[in-house]
Amino acid sequence: MKTILVEKTASKGLAMGKAFVVQRHNLKADTYRIKPEDADAEVAKYQNAVLDASTQLEELAKTSDIFAAHLEIVKDPALYDGVSSKIKSEYQNVQLALENTIEEFAAIFDSMEDEYMRERGADIKDVGVRLMRSLKGIIQDGFEGINDKVILVAEDLTPSDTSSMNLDYILGFVTELGGVTSHVSIIARNMELPALVGVKELMEKVKHGDYLILDASGGKIIINPDEETIHKYAVLKEEYQMRKKELEELSSLPATTLDGRTVKVYANVGNLEDVRKAAERGIEGIGLFRSEFLYMENTHFPTEEEQFEVYKQAATLCPKELIIRTLDIGGDKSLPYYTFEHEENPFLGWRAIRISLDLEDVFKSQLRAILRASAFGTVKIMYPMIISMEELSKANAILTECKNELSKEGIAYDPNIKVGIMVETPAALLCIENFAKHVDFFSIGTNDLTQYVLAVDRGNKKIAKLYDAFHPAVVQSIKRIIDAGHAQGIEVGMCGEFAGDENAAILLLGLGLDEFSMSIGATANIKNIIRNSSYQKAKEYANKAASVYTTQEVKDILSQYRV
Ligand code: PEP
Ligand code: MG
Repeated sequence: MKTILVEKTASKGLAMGKAFVVQRHNLKADTYRIKPEDADAEVAKYQNAVLDASTQLEELAKTSDIFAAHLEIVKDPALYDGVSSKIKSEYQNVQLALENTIEEFAAIFDSMEDEYMRERGADIKDVGVRLMRSLKGIIQDGFEGINDKVILVAEDLTPSDTSSMNLDYILGFVTELGGVTSHVSIIARNMELPALVGVKELMEKVKHGDYLILDASGGKIIINPDEETIHKYAVLKEEYQMRKKELEELSSLPATTLDGRTVKVYANVGNLEDVRKAAERGIEGIGLFRSEFLYMENTHFPTEEEQFEVYKQAATLCPKELIIRTLDIGGDKSLPYYTFEHEENPFLGWRAIRISLDLEDVFKSQLRAILRASAFGTVKIMYPMIISMEELSKANAILTECKNELSKEGIAYDPNIKVGIMVETPAALLCIENFAKHVDFFSIGTNDLTQYVLAVDRGNKKIAKLYDAFHPAVVQSIKRIIDAGHAQGIEVGMCGEFAGDENAAILLLGLGLDEFSMSIGATANIKNIIRNSSYQKAKEYANKAASVYTTQEVKDILSQYRV
């Protein structure tokens, strides 16, 4: 029995089960050349790999169209011709011939004008990976072989990883890399699964099949525990679940303080399933619909019609309001069907609104879909990563174009739809008084705001200690944003993870935050805290916390809060 202690919890909860350690293999081709007389045998190896990949894909194609398309690619005679000619006339070994052929094919598709065709480049690369695995004799790779409930252990998990695995089998996540605001942490919180990330030496310490107790709330992983420990945690797990249920029953009560201030406690969601879950818990609004999930879990840019269907249903399910954030891709989030150029600093690169303004057609189909959904409920639009008034004006000009088009086509939408921005860049913060005059609401994105204000990568475990939203610079930023919004009479919300942090609730309440939006699982606890607090007292503590010099002082002041 071994125990690993972890400082920060990505998603609370307790899970017990076997570890599934995600193996990732080196898929680079061998580079040697073959003898001319070995060419036929080398081609035969390729044919076997095609057979092997086809068998796998036939099975997978039963449940997904993506794999049906891959099956066609793998059997394409042009691919065979490309590989066999490199073997027979250039004497490349089969792996090298495959790698080069896939690169050539993908490059042709990547350079095409037509967006649909460009997306096929990504499919070809995926097929290349499958064939290479077969050539290298790799049996278990990535998430293949998960057919029972497991605790997933991996060095890192990207958004495309989480969208390609069957989450029904996942009891919890543990990763060596990543921070509490990284994608896997957000997914875990959305799904109310326990998770610990940034776990040092994890891959050395945990072996595939080890029995784990993942005590995410307590920041602990116990490897191969003894019977007594298993029993102790089984009892704790039951207690934890009972407490969670009790709290959930509070979910639908209003978040009104003892002295009568009511704030909104909303949910952050990534799909319709989450919206349904929020509605079932009596959560009245969605403060952040991360629309990028619709794009990531897809084989193509979702069409206006496809998006409309989702947004419309979400709007209908939301009793109060639904804030849809326009596509926030880039950074650590890529699309399986679109090639992003390599960037040295992706978090400072082509992401979010920058992409939407460059890919205007993609942006327009999203805006039209959101506008159309606004005829079915209270829908608001939120732009991510805004740094300038120019961006805001451009985005709004495109929005106006979409409105005009819909009016001409006689399609219903809310002409007074509210438009807000995520405040998550230092530029937006420093010009916040100007932005307040031109938008209907703010939502503070502390996940990014913290990383950009502090210049601390939100996913880098080496500096995870420095990533702290209680830093006076972040606290004072939040105060300034709320004050600037209120001075112009607009509502200020927060959809960064800080909004769901129980230790921050008094601070945010006291600073005057109007709307707290967080993962569904955190709402009950935050409501409970607010319902047992005094707004006047919280104000005193928050103002003190916003005037001190160190992170520790901020935390100390807040921990002294008593009603
Ligand atoms: C944020 O930055 O706080 C936020 C909510 O956006 P995301 O985590 O999706 O970048
Ligand atoms: Mg963000």
